[in-house]
Amino acid sequence: MDPPLMEAPNDFGNPLARWMHHHCKSSVVYVEFRPNQARVLQEWNNVDPIAQGPGAAERLAARDEQSGAAMRCTGFFLSVPTAPPHRIHVLTVAHALHPVFNAGFPITAAQAEWMYQPWILCEHLEQAFLDGDEQLRRFTRGHIVNISCQNDLLVIQLTQAHMAGYCEQVHWPLSVAQRFPPCTDSVMMLSWPEVGRSAATARGEISHPDRMIQYLGGRNPFGFTTRLSEVGIRSEQGSSGAPLLDGWGEVVGVLHGGNTVVSFFVGLTEIRNTLMGWGLI
Ligand SMILES: [Zn+2]
Repeated sequence: MDPPLMEAPNDFGNPLARWMHHHCKSSVVYVEFRPNQARVLQEWNNVDPIAQGPGAAERLAARDEQSGAAMRCTGFFLSVPTAPPHRIHVLTVAHALHPVFNAGFPITAAQAEWMYQPWILCEHLEQAFLDGDEQLRRFTRGHIVNISCQNDLLVIQLTQAHMAGYCEQVHWPLSVAQRFPPCTDSVMMLSWPEVGRSAATARGEISHPDRMIQYLGGRNPFGFTTRLSEVGIRSEQGSSGAPLLDGWGEVVGVLHGGNTVVSFFVGLTEIRNTLMGWGLI
């Protein structure tokens, strides 16, 4: 029997998703918020005081320890119309911070910046570390310049234009879509849930475009009021902030949270309105 002239068709092949994974993976970063422990603890206790009584000492001790831990999430480079020098902006979620704010006690970007130093790790330097070309994972410093305590969004601006002196390779910035795709359309999420697991890619279908957060069963300790899109994709804690991409590679959501079956993304209308208010689109 003659050998086949061409490869057998592969029904599981997915050229678009593969292209997007390859093209957009360097758009996604690992974000670490390094706290000033005393300041975080002070604000946390202001927002959510621990009442005197049985167990109070243990809860205070646990909070004391937690407030010193770095918080991690996923972020992505945002395409923004800024004048030179082109500062790089990373969009992520506000709930990556400790519960140092809520609906009744919103904070400003300056207050968040007073408590945290955001640090970014890019895909290229992660790969250099994994390949043994770098001894340590090398992060670059940013600053919190915008926060929405209603819509769970936060913007980090990197200190140096074009990340000069950190990484000279291309970090394709993602554009925010104009319109949300129809229900049941396929979408893709690119996340970085923990160091060593960059470019984690998942595909799913939109199961509902517009859920109201206050009517969902999950906890909402920050009191967010944003509307959320529901997608049949599973997610995990460190993936918060991951971009949800449509078939054109444009952002249609930012991962807020999920259960074991579906995930919820900050709605496209909220993202667009918030970024417009900040002059970022
Ligand atoms: Zn890079």
